[in-house]
Amino acid sequence: MNVHGRCHCGLITYEAEVDPARVSACHCTDCQMLSGSPYRVSIPAPRDTFVLLTGQPKTYIKTAESGTRRVHAFCADCGTPVYSSALSGPVAYSLRAGCLAERAELPPRKQIWCQSALDWAMDLKDVARVERQ
Ligand SMILES: [Zn+2]
Ligand SMILES: [Zn+2]
Repeated sequence: MNVHGRCHCGLITYEAEVDPARVSACHCTDCQMLSGSPYRVSIPAPRDTFVLLTGQPKTYIKTAESGTRRVHAFCADCGTPVYSSALSGPVAYSLRAGCLAERAELPPRKQIWCQSALDWAMDLKDVARVERQ
């Protein structure tokens, strides 16, 4: 599937090819902090399909518990996360589903790092619903 992404302010725009079967929700504490949300939904795009159309993301190098270092790219103006990838020789960019125009068609197929999942985030069915603010 061809997807179209952008940051909130519109400075950064990109396109890529993804396999909708590979969408995952990550409950790791890094994703919680770096997204500002209880979990992050991402989908890998093979490196050669990712095309940065406008803008240049700023990068932050994250070191995992294992010592693995990953690049986190984000818009320096609005702070929107754009992707993460291996520090050297990335084979894929992990796109942030919330920034993709096609996000409604990309439900997660797998949840990872469930050991750090927030219990309350796993089921919002009974939480009061309001159509708008
Ligand atoms: Zn932006
Ligand atoms: Zn994560």
